[in-house]
Amino acid sequence: MRLGLGAKFTLTVLIILAGTMAANTLYFLKTSTRFHEEQLVERGRALGRLVSLISPDAILGFDFLLLNDYTREVSSQRDVVYGVIVNANGRPLSSSINDADPLISRHLEAAKSKDILKLLQQLDGEAELIQLQFPITHNGLMLGRFLVGMSRQSLQSEFHRQLVVQILVLTAIVLFLITAIYAVFRFNVLFPIRKLIAASEEVGRGRYTLVEVNSADELGLLARAFNAMIEEVRQEQAKLHRQANFDVLTGLPNRMMALDRIDQEISRSRRSQQRFAMFFIDLDNFKSVNDSLGHAVGDELLVATGARVQATLRDADTVARLGGDEFLVLAPDVADEVQVEEIAERLIRAVSEPLELNGRKVVARCSIGIALFPDNGENVEMLMANADNAMYQAKSMGEGSAIFFTEEMNTRLHERMQMEQDLNLAIESGQLALHFQPIFDAAARRHRGAEVLLRWHHPERGAVSPAVFIPLAEATGQIVGIGDWVLEQACRSWSGWHKAGIDPGFLAINISRIQFRKRFSQRLTELMSMYGIPPQALELEITESVLLDDHHQVAEELNSLRAVGVTLSLDDFGTGYSSLSYLKRFRFDVLKIDQSFVAGLPHDPDDVSLVKAILAMAKGLDLKVVAEGVENHDQLSFLTLQGCDLAQGYFLAKPMNDEEFLNHLTSLQPGAEPLRISATHN
Ligand code: C2E
Ligand code: MG
Ligand code: MG
Repeated sequence: MRLGLGAKFTLTVLIILAGTMAANTLYFLKTSTRFHEEQLVERGRALGRLVSLISPDAILGFDFLLLNDYTREVSSQRDVVYGVIVNANGRPLSSSINDADPLISRHLEAAKSKDILKLLQQLDGEAELIQLQFPITHNGLMLGRFLVGMSRQSLQSEFHRQLVVQILVLTAIVLFLITAIYAVFRFNVLFPIRKLIAASEEVGRGRYTLVEVNSADELGLLARAFNAMIEEVRQEQAKLHRQANFDVLTGLPNRMMALDRIDQEISRSRRSQQRFAMFFIDLDNFKSVNDSLGHAVGDELLVATGARVQATLRDADTVARLGGDEFLVLAPDVADEVQVEEIAERLIRAVSEPLELNGRKVVARCSIGIALFPDNGENVEMLMANADNAMYQAKSMGEGSAIFFTEEMNTRLHERMQMEQDLNLAIESGQLALHFQPIFDAAARRHRGAEVLLRWHHPERGAVSPAVFIPLAEATGQIVGIGDWVLEQACRSWSGWHKAGIDPGFLAINISRIQFRKRFSQRLTELMSMYGIPPQALELEITESVLLDDHHQVAEELNSLRAVGVTLSLDDFGTGYSSLSYLKRFRFDVLKIDQSFVAGLPHDPDDVSLVKAILAMAKGLDLKVVAEGVENHDQLSFLTLQGCDLAQGYFLAKPMNDEEFLNHLTSLQPGAEPLRISATHN
């Protein structure tokens, strides 16, 4: 059995109280009994002294009547059992026995026979009897003795009576005290403790109630400390709740909270049979603001965007920051697409309002993907995925656009995902192959090398263009493995031809931005030494987008490649975002003019002046130039005339598989004539 604090305390106090009081009472009863016994003995002694004082005369005068009077008088006294006067020889001269005394009634026979000596003999050693004797003398002569017997009976009955009274009184006192103590204990200790227990249990259930502080004692201090702790826990909980559900930077609900709100909105809309709209907002130029103006300004831009988006919305709408530069808006109860479109336009306008950040005027632009409930998804995941999908579509349409999710997007998304899966198997199942497109001396039309171009022969789709699958592989990171495969395959091919005594010239390999980030130069040197490739046999084609990455890292990697001795070529020049200053900062050997500029030659005045300008600048910077996408004679003539070093294009040679390329190479071997391109490839 488990005892409560109150029961334990009461029991302890009860035992201590009862114990001490019982000991005290016992002591009291003992001393009082001893006192009464002494009084009894004293009374016996007084009687004895008196009788032994007055008896000699009666003994000497043989006045037995008087002696009888004495003994009768003595035995009639309270507590006296007998009074006997014996002579010097011990023979009784006079005796009186108190017949009514219970002691005597026990020895009734002896008493009845009046054989006093026998009676005395029987009474000898009785615990209840005090036997006293006093000598009776006259002038120093022993005349006899006076024997008196006192009964302890009344003493004992008094003791018992006292005992009962004391026990009753004691019990009453103990009960009274214990009740009083328990009441005080209950009120002052148990109640506050129970309140603390109840409050602690509430904390366990997530409810924070303070307890009343009524006293300044230890329990009061405990209650105060408990309240302080509760306050702290409450604040900490609130902080955790904020951290878990709100974005620290903008103070807006975060992704977790957003998901929760969408869930609630779905339930609400189901009940009310209403539609709601979900907007995925992504800033288009956030990265460039972050990179060019610093993270602090980037943060300011996010805070300002959040605030502006919120300001354009109704009270019932929700805005959340999903992470990075992504925001989500939930607009409940929308009537139709027109209303949704209006909201999207308002959002775009609000975001693109010019901002003053750190003394600089910044104009943010965003793309918005829109999904409607229940039209574009029945649950949170579907709605999120579809709004996200629509947002990417909006991004591809250019800055500051909003787009509704459509089923067609979904199909494209699924195709993309399928392709991503297929691409995983492409290397292993031998679906990838390298093609080679020769690059020629523009003026002499002599073979100088070839660009390595990747081909994917999909078992169902047929040939998939690298323009389609390379961006996908870059987005998923698969390009790292694929790029490595291309690099090794190219090295293997070169070394195979070389061993066979065929000179393929240089091989220009396209390197993706993603691949470039992964300690590329180290891998390249490994492969070069493995296949015995001299550095002049390799050219690396890097697009301008590489230069937009972390400048320091890019410069370092380019320097390592330069140290290896391979040729560095800037591909698709003019299509990216790089400025001329990049050309100065990052040293390249070759510039490849993108085919879009070559296409308009020699008639389009814009293309003409652009190509002329690129060629002049390249000369100034001591760079060789390759023109891509040369498709006809006029283009080639123009380029040759303008001093373009090298040319590549269908007019000169199309990309070839390795067998075709080998044939092409063997036809070039010593003794073979320079190609008569116009005749063979027109
Ligand atoms: P790019 O590096 O600019 O490659 C030149 C593209 O122009 C090739 O397309 C080539 O077939 C095409 N081309 C060549 N001459 C002509 C012409 O006279 N007219 C026209 N219209 N096009 C011509 P392709 O092979 O489809 O490759 C497209 C892009 O895919 C490449 O552009 C390159 O950026 C990328 N790529 C191809 N192979 C690889 C690779 O192994 N790794 C990486 N990272 N990217 C690759
Ligand atoms: Mg290229
Ligand atoms: Mg190119």
